[in-house]
Amino acid sequence: MSDEDRETAEHRAARARWSAEEQEAYERYERGTCARKKRYASERKARQAARHPLVQARLGRPARVYLCPWCLGYHLSSTPERSL
Ligand SMILES: [Zn+2]
Repeated sequence: MSDEDRETAEHRAARARWSAEEQEAYERYERGTCARKKRYASERKARQAARHPLVQARLGRPARVYLCPWCLGYHLSSTPERSL
C-alpha cells in the first residue's frame, strides 16, 4: 500500500499547492512524530490509555486518539481536535 492510498482528497488538494520543499518538510515532521510516539495496535487500547488517570492529570482532560497515516497504528495527542 502506498502512502497516497491513505490520504484523503483534501490532503492531496492541500499538498498540491505546496512547494517540493514544503512537502518534504511536512513528511519529515509527520514521520518524526510517529517514530517518537507510543503506538497502540487498536483504537480500544489507545482509548483506554487516553482515559488513564495519570494522562488526565497531566493534560487536564483525556488525550485525543488518532489513527496514524504512517504506521496505521493509533497514537495519543495532547492537542485538541482541529476542525479542518
Ligand atoms: Zn504512527
